[in-house]
Amino acid sequence: MKFYSTRSRNHTADSMEAVLKGIAPDGGLYTPLDFASMQVNVGDLLEMSAVEISAEVIGRILNDFTRDEMRALIEAAYEDKFETADLTPVKKVGDDFVLELFRGPTSAFKDVALSVLPRLIVAAREKLGVEDEIVILTATSGDTGKAALEGFHDVAGTRIIVFYPDGGVSDVQKAQMVTQAGDNVGVCAVKGNFDDAQTGVKNIFADDEANRWAAASGARLSSANSINIGRLAPQVAYYFKAYCDLVLNAEIGLGDAVNFIVPTGNFGDILAGEFARRMGLPVGKLVCASNANNVLTDFINTGVYDRRREFYRTASPSMDILVSSNLERYLFLASGGDFDAVAGLMRELSENGVYTAPTAMMDEMRAHFSAGCADDAAALKAIGEVWRDYGYLMDTHTAVGWAVMQQFKDAEDNGWKNVLLSTASPYKFSHDVLSAVSDARPETGFAAMDRLNAETGVPVPPNLATLRDRAPRFTDCVEKGEMLEYVKARIRK
Ligand SMILES: *Cc1c(COP(=O)(O)O)cnc(C)c1O
Repeated sequence: MKFYSTRSRNHTADSMEAVLKGIAPDGGLYTPLDFASMQVNVGDLLEMSAVEISAEVIGRILNDFTRDEMRALIEAAYEDKFETADLTPVKKVGDDFVLELFRGPTSAFKDVALSVLPRLIVAAREKLGVEDEIVILTATSGDTGKAALEGFHDVAGTRIIVFYPDGGVSDVQKAQMVTQAGDNVGVCAVKGNFDDAQTGVKNIFADDEANRWAAASGARLSSANSINIGRLAPQVAYYFKAYCDLVLNAEIGLGDAVNFIVPTGNFGDILAGEFARRMGLPVGKLVCASNANNVLTDFINTGVYDRRREFYRTASPSMDILVSSNLERYLFLASGGDFDAVAGLMRELSENGVYTAPTAMMDEMRAHFSAGCADDAAALKAIGEVWRDYGYLMDTHTAVGWAVMQQFKDAEDNGWKNVLLSTASPYKFSHDVLSAVSDARPETGFAAMDRLNAETGVPVPPNLATLRDRAPRFTDCVEKGEMLEYVKARIRK
């Protein structure tokens, strides 16, 4: 499979190179165009386990690995890591379905991909005969950081450095990261918001001097953010898996379409749904759900992407994003691979903070996507209602999706079943979730966790329950302009 940079025809890569590099040298994102060769027959998946479906789907996208290699790699990646053998269970809640993506080692949906990515990188490194240490740089809005640390710690031949916005993640998310074990890990706060941290990381990747310096130090920089195609591919699998579950439970017939409602930040999760659709999954609408940072809602509804707006810190911090990286990949797909058009729009975004997408791109997008947003008040209200009505406890991100799902059903009921992607355990955001179901207001995140458990009886995932007993290892905090220095200091160690 050939992967194209979204910004120029000069930079193509096979899947191993794309996984190893993370981002193309021109700043574009590696993206496939030939979906005809990636078609999956859904009927063939019905008898398969979750792990088998993953290997099948990922293997179609990253097809430089043999079938046996991919099967072994996926089995090892997920073995004993998830709470259930079906990895991503589907629960019926009222008339709708919730696809639980948070049953992994850090209780966030990013575990699904970040359990696999380190193994893909190590396999690609070996196959390509690369000797350099692969240094993973990651900016996190909260969940990616911990899931990446968990995936990469003590993986031979790799090192990982995570930057998070100072004050921009929850107590529990911060504790998860700063207590991370492992000799090859670094965790550092950045004075700024997530976009600052992400821009800082992207600038390091694009900095020739930084890359030369890394090479001279026996290191090669790469990314675990969803700009890495190795992050995206594993996410495509659970769309197929969820669909199979609905067929097997006779909720739908094979061939019926399904709508997926996706709490969105960097546009990676929902783009995986678009990949699934292009690979043959019967998808009705992909519904993009945003919080008060509703730049994507406005974009999908008006065609104008305008990041020049107030940035809000919300109760769903993993969606507090104004520059959604993976949208670039979608623009590339929607334009049929128009490098120049995408490069032009991205230039406008970085120079002026705004662009207007061509009508043809937006027509294509609106044929398959809808969008809505819900603020904190609406999300918390949804948590309370769903708990009281159905005894189902959602986290704050999933709740944004739930609220937007109701808007979607009111506005365009297309008759298909709705699957809401649930992206985190409610216990990662105990304070806010508790405030939605009770009047209690404990002081700390951990007290809130206990109280939420006492009030609802929903079990606390073990990885979160044991967190408070671990000592913090990392207290570094740098200015935006000092990120490269931090990286250099850690590579030298
Ligand atoms: C990362 C994340 C999201 C957003 O996913 P994208 O792929 O960035 O759109 C939503 N919810 C949670 C809990 C997350 O961690």
